[in-house]
Amino acid sequence: MQDDAYQPCPQCGESAVAPVQFTWWGGLVGPKLLSQVSCTGCGHQYNGKTGKPNTAAIAVYLSIFAVLAVAVVMMMSSL
Ligand SMILES: [Zn+2]
Repeated sequence: MQDDAYQPCPQCGESAVAPVQFTWWGGLVGPKLLSQVSCTGCGHQYNGKTGKPNTAAIAVYLSIFAVLAVAVVMMMSSL
């Protein structure tokens, strides 16, 4: 299997998918970390490595980001 081979779209079966460069939830780094890909057929976004939706991983990613943001704010306000 090639490095750039992704799972076909779980929604429509399309095998032509493209990596997502930017998302509202992860900026530039998030989609790379989660192997987020977008189907060129129907636009469905999912994890290109596993073929499963990234919904749970995105929730975890967002909550970690929220905790970090709160920690930064608390550090800033204690200075
Ligand atoms: Zn599709």
